[in-house]
Amino acid sequence: MTATPTWASTTSAATQARAIAVVTSQRAGARCRSCASACGSLTRGDYREAVLTPGPVPRSVVVVGAGLAGSQTVAALRAQGFDGHVTVLGAEGLAPYDRPPLSKELLTRSEPAWLRDELGTDLDLADDVRLDEPATALDHDADGVTVQTSPGGSGDPREVRGDVVVLATGSGASRPWPEALTLHAAADAARLRESLVPGARLVVVGAGWIGAEVAGVAAAAGVEVTVVEGALAPLSTALGAEVGALTAAWYEPAGVRLLTSSTVAAVQADHVDLADGTRLEADVVLAAVGARPRSGWIGAALPLEADGSLAVDDRYRVLAPQGPLDRVLAVGDLARRRSARHGWVPGGHWDGALRGPAVAVRALLEPEAPVEDLAPYVFSTQLGHELACYGLPGAADEVVLRGAPAGAGDGFTALWFAPGTDRLTAVLAVDRPRDVAAARKLFAGPTLPTVDRPRAADPATPLRTALLP
Ligand SMILES: Cc1cc2nc3c(=O)[nH]c(=O)nc-3n(C[C@H](O)[C@H](O)[C@H](O)COP(=O)(O)OP(=O)(O)OC[C@H]3O[C@@H](n4cnc5c(N)ncnc54)[C@H](O)[C@@H]3O)c2cc1C
Repeated sequence: MTATPTWASTTSAATQARAIAVVTSQRAGARCRSCASACGSLTRGDYREAVLTPGPVPRSVVVVGAGLAGSQTVAALRAQGFDGHVTVLGAEGLAPYDRPPLSKELLTRSEPAWLRDELGTDLDLADDVRLDEPATALDHDADGVTVQTSPGGSGDPREVRGDVVVLATGSGASRPWPEALTLHAAADAARLRESLVPGARLVVVGAGWIGAEVAGVAAAAGVEVTVVEGALAPLSTALGAEVGALTAAWYEPAGVRLLTSSTVAAVQADHVDLADGTRLEADVVLAAVGARPRSGWIGAALPLEADGSLAVDDRYRVLAPQGPLDRVLAVGDLARRRSARHGWVPGGHWDGALRGPAVAVRALLEPEAPVEDLAPYVFSTQLGHELACYGLPGAADEVVLRGAPAGAGDGFTALWFAPGTDRLTAVLAVDRPRDVAAARKLFAGPTLPTVDRPRAADPATPLRTALLP
């Protein structure tokens, strides 16, 4: 009699199928934007050809969220040989699309950048795709997970059951003022695009990643743009005021008026009042003051962090008081991951949603395999500059500049060190592609790299040679 494979007993089948699948993927030639390798862009036909052995269990996976992390989860499941049943639940009624172009190409691209075209990820790899059936509640027990849904937002609830659930519901833009627009979804971009005609007055509240990007593209298109920032400098939340201040010089040459240390007192659709009494008249007000994980629908079923995220371990298992939950994973913007190298890594950036799912799926299907600890990575194109940040700058870290910028057009690299040490915690490269490649390698080891500070600060010395043994 042949035993039915169980979750724990089919690792070798999973590994075998995964190897075959990867070969097939490479033959298909799909290349990933982030790692420049074939990381799971199989078509359904490739998959059918690839999986020659019975797949692993769990036998069914429910993926909640049809964005980048959700579609990458589906791709990773199939690429790694999972031949069980996959259900995908989405909330937008749209196929997965890429969000970074929504700000960078706001005025030049009116159609969403579909992930099928951008990355080759195809939800057809799943068995049951419900793009307009958001999850409304969740229940998990020792045998599996039940997700309640609301098809088309109707009051006619349904249930989906799976052995495992992967939560990938992302984040949503914070909106402290209902009169202001926000930018997170394709529909937001369409609304904003309509109003940003040459000569229109745009007030952007918040000089973070998205505020700076929108300000630059709008000003370049003849929109009169003012950016209001409460902190001392742009990008202060992400990079700290010292490094953020180096980006302030980019605004005026780009035709953008920047007001820092300016507190917003009130926002209406046609003006913004500042606490010092200044009124900024506007045709459009954009609130770009951050995002919050979309976890409200989870209720009390899982322990949420104060910021609304789900804490996960290195295998992306949601952490509950009783320990990591084997059947409940979270990926992408929703997850706050424990990294051995960086500590707690918040979601909110494209690369984590792109690459995290493959790590999570591997840990699910091959529990004994080593787990990759991805370095946090953020990129941005703003006001004529290319930014790439690896690692996590800490508020108390010491900053060392590798070539101070003399003018607004100059590139530079900032290095963050744990206080009083030579342990590098983060690298930001601005218009310095060579330092980007070096930074990626520096954060590939099991611990934070130790770096010779004087060598690292010298822009004439290759950054990689500053690494100490
Ligand atoms: C305008 C913009 C520009 C950006 N630019 C950059 C950049 O330059 N660099 C960078 O590193 N990052 C950037 N990001 C961030 C990056 O796009 C995100 O980190 C990434 O999209 C996260 O992917 P995700 O799948 O976790 O979440 P999302 O892309 O938000 O996808 C989550 C999906 O889940 C769906 N969903 C929500 N609730 C439910 C529910 N209850 N049931 C079912 N489905 C649900 C949502 O509708 C959504 O489709 C940008 C983001 C925006 C908005």
